[in-house]
Amino acid sequence: MAAVPFELKGKKVFVAGHRGMVGSALVRRLAREDVDILTVQRSEVDLLNQAETNRWFEKARPQVVLHAAAKVGGIHANNTLRAEFIYENLQLAANVIHAAHVNGVEKLLFLGSSCIYPKLAPQPLREDSLLTGELEPTNEPYAIAKIAGVKMVEAYRSQYGSDFISLMPTNLYGPGDNYHPEYSHVVAALIRRFHEAKEAGAPSVAVWGTGTPRREFLYVDDMADASIHLLRHYSGGTLVNVGTGEDITIAEFARVVAKTVSYTGEIVYDPSRPDGTPRKLLDVSRLAELGWKARTSLEEGMKLAYRAFLERKPGT
Ligand code: GDP
Repeated sequence: MAAVPFELKGKKVFVAGHRGMVGSALVRRLAREDVDILTVQRSEVDLLNQAETNRWFEKARPQVVLHAAAKVGGIHANNTLRAEFIYENLQLAANVIHAAHVNGVEKLLFLGSSCIYPKLAPQPLREDSLLTGELEPTNEPYAIAKIAGVKMVEAYRSQYGSDFISLMPTNLYGPGDNYHPEYSHVVAALIRRFHEAKEAGAPSVAVWGTGTPRREFLYVDDMADASIHLLRHYSGGTLVNVGTGEDITIAEFARVVAKTVSYTGEIVYDPSRPDGTPRKLLDVSRLAELGWKARTSLEEGMKLAYRAFLERKPGT
């Protein structure tokens, strides 16, 4: 841990991607700090456009950047919108990281994802597994773009001495998730599908794949808290995994969802849908050494996530 924590007080902190699930959690968490939070609407500044991004940085002069702008989605979205996932995520990483460098940003936090690790890397996934093997094909375009972001952060640190860091969160869930029936991640998809099955009195509900893959789930407000902790206390060149260190099978998870939404019908599996990577558990020992651990249990987080789903704005 750095001897002197990075001073956030009074700083202008830009949250890129503040409307997304992670960005909005970062804004909620930063509201508890004495900082000036900067955000931009896509209609004002398109972060996919380098010139617009540079102009905005020159004018707004953020001192700290939290890069949570990304095109994200579940296994089906990643697998079918492959060009959009690689193009947009590469562009967002390149534009924001370079503009931060050119405009003298003091500290930048880049958010990746646990899918950057090779499909068959030893579990739990250690940070040094990066680039040791083939990626999971369903999300390779997204992973390649995120790996490029991690490597940019490393390169700017080594060439210019920039205090830029990279965090790799596990599967996240919580308020502000995307509940699209096809393009969402498993947590939001199942909350919605189980809720609708309960409302309709459906005798059974379908879960994709075989139910055997294992996944780790972190409540997004815990992720935001870890980000602020590491922003203050971490300033190293290697990535840091952010997770709970515990995983469960999709079948076990489906039972947690059924309990959360009080659905009592049958759970059936649809093996025509992909399973994706068999397991994706993060090794969180580096994070623990840096003094942070997840607080929200899956049961508790799922209650909060279900409440947020019920209270969400229509059409989201
Ligand atoms: P991944 O962690 O990148 O594979 O992303 P997802 O969150 O989309 O999927 C996690 C796991 O949940 C995969 O094994 C999916 O097959 C499984 N799963 C089960 N039902 C669903 C569903 O309705 N939507 C999604 N996205 N995944 C599902």
